[in-house]
Amino acid sequence: MDFALTEEQTAIFEMAYAFGQEHIAPHARDWEAQGTIPKELWPQLGELGFAGLYVSEDSGGSGLSRLDATLVFEALSMACPSVAAFLSIHNMCAKMIDAFASDAMKARVLPKAMTMETVLSYCLTEPGSGSDAAALKTRAERTNEGYTLNGTKAFISGGGYSDLYVAMVRTGEDGPKGVSAVLIEDGTPGLSFGGLEDKMGWRSQPTRQVQFDDCKIPVDNLLGEEGQGFKYAMAGLDGGRLNIAACSLGAAQTGLTSTLAYMAERKAFGKSIDQFQALQFRLADMEIELQAARTFLRQAAWKLDTGAPDATKFCAMAKKFVTETGSQVVDQCLQLHGGYGYLADYGIEKLVRDLRVHQILEGTNEIMRLIVARQMLAR
Ligand SMILES: Cc1cc2nc3c(=O)[nH]c(=O)nc-3n(C[C@H](O)[C@H](O)[C@H](O)COP(=O)(O)OP(=O)(O)OC[C@H]3O[C@@H](n4cnc5c(N)ncnc54)[C@H](O)[C@@H]3O)c2cc1C
Repeated sequence: MDFALTEEQTAIFEMAYAFGQEHIAPHARDWEAQGTIPKELWPQLGELGFAGLYVSEDSGGSGLSRLDATLVFEALSMACPSVAAFLSIHNMCAKMIDAFASDAMKARVLPKAMTMETVLSYCLTEPGSGSDAAALKTRAERTNEGYTLNGTKAFISGGGYSDLYVAMVRTGEDGPKGVSAVLIEDGTPGLSFGGLEDKMGWRSQPTRQVQFDDCKIPVDNLLGEEGQGFKYAMAGLDGGRLNIAACSLGAAQTGLTSTLAYMAERKAFGKSIDQFQALQFRLADMEIELQAARTFLRQAAWKLDTGAPDATKFCAMAKKFVTETGSQVVDQCLQLHGGYGYLADYGIEKLVRDLRVHQILEGTNEIMRLIVARQMLAR
C-alpha cells in the first residue's frame, strides 16, 4: 500500500494550486459580490486540461483518474470553493457525455466543452423532487422531429449562464426507468430561466430555475438510450461527490493554514493566542480531522478508479465525512479568529458560507447515510 502521491500527481496539484492563487483567489470576493464568474476564466482552465479531467483522451479530455481529479479540486478550492465546485459540475456533465453519448454527439459537443467555450450545467432537481430525484416530472414527449419538453428544473448551478444543459426528463413510466437524459442548447425556443436565487454561499455561481415550455429539441439531443437517463445521472454522481468533498477539504485546509498564521500574530493576555494550550489542542484536532478526511477521500477515489464493488458506498461515506469535517473545521477557524473571523476581509466567513451547501447537494448527507446503511443491511 503506497499513500504517497506520484511526481505527476504532485505536479497536477501544484499546477492547479498556482493557477488558483494567481487567477481566482484575488478575484473571489469581487465575483461573489457580482454574483457571477467571468466567462473568460473557463477557457484558461480548459487550456490546463481541467474541463474534462476524467474524460478520455480520445474525446479530447485529460484521461486522468478520479484521484487525480480530487487533487485539482482540492487545490482550486484553496482559492475559492465556489469556482472550483462549478468546474466540478462541468466535468460531471462532460464525463456523462463521454461515457454514454453516441460518437456523433461526442464529436458535436465535446470539442467545445473541452476548451470550455461551452459551459455545461446538470439539471436533475425539480421544485418537487430533490432527494427523491427519480420522482421528477419534467416531461419529454416524442414527436416526429425529436422531443418537446415541459417542466421546471430547480436550483440549477449555471442556470441562465451556461451554454448547454444536460437535463434528466421523463420519457416513459413513473420511476427511474422512465427517465432519459437530453441536451438543451442555450437559446433554444421554449427554454427560459427563473430569477437569480439569493443564496447563503456559492454566491459567485448564478443559480436559477430552468424552465421548459414546449421546448423543442432534435432527436439527436437524446444522450445515449431512452430510459437510461437516471442511471447515467447517478453514474456521474459518484465522481461528483468526490469532487465536492475535495472542495470542502481544500477550502478547510486554507482556513486552517490562515488561522495558524493569524494565531501567531494575534495577542491576548500578553502572548500570542497560539500559546494557549487549549487552542493548540483545537489546532491539533483540526489537523487530525483534515488528514483523516484526506486519506478517506483518496481511498474512495481509488475505489472508484479501480472499479471496486463498494465504490459507491465509499464515495457516499467520504462525501458525508469530508464535507462535515470541512464545515466543522472552518467554523472552528472562524471562532479562533474571534470577531475578525466574522468580517469578510479575513476570508473565513466566506468559507463557512460556501462549504455549508456541500452537505446538501450531490445528494444530501442524509442520503449518503441511506446509501451506506442500505449496503450494510443488504449483507
Ligand atoms: C446552491 C445549490 C446548487 C445546486 N445545484 C444543483 C444543480 O446544479 N443541479 C441539480 O440538479 N440540483 C442542484 N441542487 C439541488 C440539490 O441537489 C438538492 O437541493 C438536494 O438534492 C436536496 O434536495 P431538496 O432540496 O429537494 O431537499 P429534500 O429532498 O426535500 O430534503 C429535505 C430534507 O429531508 C431529508 N431527506 C429526504 N429524503 C430522506 C430520506 N429518505 N431519509 C432521510 N432524510 C431524507 C434531506 O436530507 C433534507 O435534509 C443545488 C442545490 C443548491 C442549494
